[in-house]
Amino acid sequence: MNMIDTQLKDFCQKNTIQNQQLNMARGNPCQEQLDLSNELLTCVNKMNCITRDGVDVRNYGGIDGINEAKDLFSKYMDVNVTEIIVAGNSSLNLMYNALALALIQGTTNGPGWLSQGAIKFLCPTPGYDRHFSLCESLGIQMIAVPLNEDGPDMDIVENLVKSDHLIKGIWCVPKYSNPTGICYSDETINRLAFMDTAAGDFRIFCDNAYAVHHLGNKGTQIANLLEACKLASNPERAYLFGSTSKLTFPGAGVAMVAASEKNISYFRKQLGFQTIGPDKINQLRHVNFFQDIDGLMTHANLHANILRKKFDVILDVFDQYLSSGNLASWRRPDGGYFISVNLLPGCAKKVVDLAKTFGLTLTPAGATFPYGYDAEDRNIRIAPSSLTVEDAKLASEILCKCIVSVSSSVHPNLHN
Ligand code: PMP
Repeated sequence: MNMIDTQLKDFCQKNTIQNQQLNMARGNPCQEQLDLSNELLTCVNKMNCITRDGVDVRNYGGIDGINEAKDLFSKYMDVNVTEIIVAGNSSLNLMYNALALALIQGTTNGPGWLSQGAIKFLCPTPGYDRHFSLCESLGIQMIAVPLNEDGPDMDIVENLVKSDHLIKGIWCVPKYSNPTGICYSDETINRLAFMDTAAGDFRIFCDNAYAVHHLGNKGTQIANLLEACKLASNPERAYLFGSTSKLTFPGAGVAMVAASEKNISYFRKQLGFQTIGPDKINQLRHVNFFQDIDGLMTHANLHANILRKKFDVILDVFDQYLSSGNLASWRRPDGGYFISVNLLPGCAKKVVDLAKTFGLTLTPAGATFPYGYDAEDRNIRIAPSSLTVEDAKLASEILCKCIVSVSSSVHPNLHN
């Protein structure tokens, strides 16, 4: 154990965290956030379980959601009410379904992707690990493209999609992306909508998981991808996914998919084979709870007030420990759930392993890249939400000390 490791051990002992686990691996809301939505547990009862159209939410039916939920969540997703399906509890589930449907039966403008050859998806990186594992599980080849400050590197994207008809799609998290927190510029959104693709049945899987999850006082506005696709005469190109997982109860929220009317009716038909109808009770709960889009935005602010303190304390610790050397780079996100940190090459796995020995669990290194392969072994993802502010401070101090320790052993000639 080198000297810095000894210091680190002393530090941890001093903070009595031996045997205490600190977890910054996944973006689970903390209990205080969950408590914000407790009214959901009681806001539908036998007295108010009929919708405005006279639908009894306790019964089967209503394949694409109750009308009041479509009204509310079409505003949330910034689409027309005819362009949305409000479904079950998970947007990831909807993404999987959309992908499986395209693979097996095709899209509104092309046959099943499986019948067309070994298809590929573009994966802006660093990105969301579950998008990548979903592709991997379905045998879709992934091509990593760099994610810049304003979205995917569009020169690379345009170049790739124009010549290869087997590139069928791209993953995008355009607002407060997981993990970097960047937002796509209007130019990026337009280039995605207008770009020439060799595949006529190309799709943008746009995951709007952090649509209203700002940390600053006023959220960032980004261009509307579906509208841009319509303007570009590519109305079928965009699939938008969203959910309330990070607004109410993860796993017991409401998920939705939005797209052109043609795509929506295609999905609706397919959904009819999968289920007799979604959990309408939960949809009505969410409508009763939020009331309207202003209520939803007010609720989002309450989350931001809790989360902001944790992001601030972590970013302050990074500034304090890491800003004088060149050991790491990171950005201060305006929203979302994560902080992405780039270390010196060859350090990410070692930092994650070392942190574990001091009781701090991080997302596995490499997870933010397709196939879990970060060629430079540099990127780590920090998820502050589930910790208390005090633990977030402690965890980030441990992390910084691990970064200093690993950097100096991997790069012994480094002077910082
Ligand atoms: N997309 C992104 C980008 C996420 O970060 C998450 C949650 N971590 C999800 C989707 C999962 O959403 P859901 O709970 O609606 O399946």
